[in-house]
Amino acid sequence: MQSIFTLLFGIMIGYVVLPATKMSQVPAKVDSDRAQFKTNPAWDSTSRNTASISRNANIRGNPNPNEHFVDQAVYRVPADEAVYSAPAKSITADFLTDKPKMKQDGNLEDTLETKNLEILRANFAIMGSQSLPTSATPIVMKTTKLPDSKRKKIMITGGAGFVGSHLVDKLMMEGQEVIVVDNFFTGQKRNIEHWLHHPNFSLIVHDVTEPIMLEVDQIYHLACPASPPHYQYNPVKTIKTSTMGTINMLGLAKRVHARMLLTSTSEIYGDPLEHPQKESYWGNVNTIGPRSCYDEGKRVAETMMYSYRNQNQVEVRVARIFNTFGPRMHPNDGRVVSNFIIQALQNKPITIYGNGEQTRSFQYVSDLVEGLYSLMNADYDLPVNLGNPDEYSVKEFAHYIKNITSSDSIISMLPKNEDDPSQRKPDISTAKAQLGWFPQVSVRDGLEHTIKYFQRVLDESGEIVPTGPGAAKPEA
Ligand code: NAD
Ligand code: UDP
Repeated sequence: MQSIFTLLFGIMIGYVVLPATKMSQVPAKVDSDRAQFKTNPAWDSTSRNTASISRNANIRGNPNPNEHFVDQAVYRVPADEAVYSAPAKSITADFLTDKPKMKQDGNLEDTLETKNLEILRANFAIMGSQSLPTSATPIVMKTTKLPDSKRKKIMITGGAGFVGSHLVDKLMMEGQEVIVVDNFFTGQKRNIEHWLHHPNFSLIVHDVTEPIMLEVDQIYHLACPASPPHYQYNPVKTIKTSTMGTINMLGLAKRVHARMLLTSTSEIYGDPLEHPQKESYWGNVNTIGPRSCYDEGKRVAETMMYSYRNQNQVEVRVARIFNTFGPRMHPNDGRVVSNFIIQALQNKPITIYGNGEQTRSFQYVSDLVEGLYSLMNADYDLPVNLGNPDEYSVKEFAHYIKNITSSDSIISMLPKNEDDPSQRKPDISTAKAQLGWFPQVSVRDGLEHTIKYFQRVLDESGEIVPTGPGAAKPEA
């Protein structure tokens, strides 16, 4: 009998510990550009005009990460079914502390044996259908169990970032096998830590500018810094990520016959002369300005997608994403939503760049994830705008945030950023017609969730000085 226990315990260790060990053996590819980021991170610096978090702040250390996680999770099945409040002790604790007792006839006590077997079976079932309870995330997500014939292997590059991690949640909850490929340039491990021990989840720390050999059915290609201070921090790396990174992922898609979706951007329209922007508009981009590493990088990435479709029959999907916000935005990404909320919550000046007449349209992250998912699984293969047409001037938006946070902040006018687009609003008639998609969450509701998230980040971190214009750059 004892040997059965030893065998089962061995299986369990193989199930839980070995995948984690394997994961940690994947070599992290860190290039010289990334190394520069470490020594001079624009969004962690304490210099004037750049991001900083106060000295005693610990943006990653989270005293109550469980609450943080639950609040961030936009993908949950109804509360009763979704959240399994796991007992504090782990599967191994029972085996180690509750030793089987010997009966007088020399056999193990039936009751104890039965009990332990039940625990083992129950824990196997739990591990196969939800994220595991950890000290960091004691409340876990219960996932659907798909039969082998229906379960896809889905790769998400940039899956540890803001948008990517919400997409991971959706696909994991659906029961798919998810492989995140990320170099953690702007992504954070905490965004995906609740899945790390789930058997359907794999994390590969890898830079997409290097080729990778995997077997997958679908590729969501998100890897690329998205906020202007992040992508302008190291423009050469940004253009490499969009060009070499996209070529590498297309090569993979071609080899394994995977469908690939690129997250392109409204930035490909540049400072648009047509308003609102339809997919048919070709744009107005300065090829040598500070935003060009991102704008032109995404434009050439789109060209690559259609070249591979036309020449090699790769199935492609292209989403042109407009400004998106929500929980898990990096507090120092320097974007308008994160900056204004963080400034307002701290009663610090709300910084408007330029006269504030420039406009943006804001969508909540769960709407975007639904749109990406619909596009990937639809038959339509031309570019599709995904955004919420609810348009605000930046000045209007500053007052809006100030009001809903009941803040005492003053509004501070700073110089305009070079090449800052003067207007932006998506025409989403293609998404409506081809995908039946349109935004479900109002800007107001989305902001409520996002404000709660940033309040929690502030409570954990202490003071945050958001990234300003003229953020630090790597030294030549
Ligand atoms: P993000 O910065 O939070 O996420 C990007 C992720 O990609 C991060 O996890 C980062 O570590 C990873 N990454 C960056 N370079 C990489 C590389 N070379 N190799 C591997 N991983 C790398 O940004 P996000 O807001 O989540 O944006 C995701 C995607 O959506 C991006 O492609 C972005 O261009 C696009 N997009 C976003 C918005 C928006 O408003 N959030 C708007 C338009 C387009
Ligand atoms: N902006 C601002 N103050 C800030 C951050 C941004 O006035 O603290 C402005 C920025 O100049 C731009 C708009 O807000 O006009 C949106 O900027 P964001 O960086 O969020 O994204 P973009 O749409 O420019 O990529």
